[in-house]
Amino acid sequence: MYEGISEYNDKIDIKSLELDELKNLFVSWDLPQFRAAQIYKWLHQKSAESFYDMSDIPVDLRNVLDEKCCIKTVKIKRKLVSSIDNTVKYLYEMPDGECVEAALMQYKYGKSLCISTQAGCRMGCRFCASTLMGLSRNLLASEMLDEVYCAQKDCKEKISHLVLMGTGEPLDNFDNVIKFLKILTSEEGQNLGMRHISLSTCGLVDKIRELMKLKLQLTLSISLHAYNDETRKKIMPIANKWSIDELISVCKDYFEYTGRRISFEYALINEVNDSPEDAENLSKLLKGMNGHVNLIPLNPVKEREFKRGNQERIKKFLNILLKNGLNATIRRELGSDINAACGQLRRENSTQEA
Ligand code: SAH
Repeated sequence: MYEGISEYNDKIDIKSLELDELKNLFVSWDLPQFRAAQIYKWLHQKSAESFYDMSDIPVDLRNVLDEKCCIKTVKIKRKLVSSIDNTVKYLYEMPDGECVEAALMQYKYGKSLCISTQAGCRMGCRFCASTLMGLSRNLLASEMLDEVYCAQKDCKEKISHLVLMGTGEPLDNFDNVIKFLKILTSEEGQNLGMRHISLSTCGLVDKIRELMKLKLQLTLSISLHAYNDETRKKIMPIANKWSIDELISVCKDYFEYTGRRISFEYALINEVNDSPEDAENLSKLLKGMNGHVNLIPLNPVKEREFKRGNQERIKKFLNILLKNGLNATIRRELGSDINAACGQLRRENSTQEA
């Protein structure tokens, strides 16, 4: 079976094919390779949604393609715009009715899009809204691509930065995510710089090692959230599988092998992981690693018991890291009036429909 055939449609998911795969497919159909290159540009540079929009492709070929292949697109089901900072939250609906979220943020350097990589999540982090209903399914490369293309069409501007920090664990959908990244950064596609992409993981050590071998120049973000296994196990089930020692060790290898600095995310949860002592111990753990610590004041989720500490507590935590020579910042909060934190809109949507 051709790799691009999706799980819920027996037509070829042509948008998930890398250029070489598309060329091979055309060769197997006795069609010239230059046509594959033309189609690829239509799909990934011009974000065409139908073969019938491809004006320089012969009608006969358009008919053949339409019969054998499908072009997966997502539709905007809801769109919320923050009145504070113009952050946009999209609820996208996919061809099978599954919904995922994306958030579009305006920075000085351009537009940054945060996308989902799975419908739901099976990692079970106890402070996170995305995982409350478990995993529905992985997203296809074409669906992640269309999260980007659809936002670009809507805001009429090119996305300059991308973060894989919406719903889902990107490394739990490894093959599709890598395919997505390769297509998005390809010269014949959007040609987005790999260095403008961040991938966040809760710490699947074996998959981080696999990713490392690809030597992609993206920024790897590790959701650390605790300096020791005891606390981490209380909030992140993945800590039962991989210890902090194993995680830190793969991060060191990753930096050495790829030359890319690691970014550590640390959600500050009141009286769970945010004491001055936690800050001192975190400093010891990360000293000399050349990474960056991104402190995220917890976004309280109503189904969860965790709270955010006060401003003073958060500042004190930051100052201890800085005093100890770490490179650390507090994440600026965007779109707080539209629930821009991941998972909350999707969940709201499905509980309304239930
Ligand atoms: N599965 C990936 C991407 C998830 S979301 C991962 O775990 O890294 C991106 C970041 O938001 C992660 O660091 C995640 O732990 C954090 N996060 C999730 N829910 C949060 C909440 N309610 N408040 C603050 N940060 C949260």
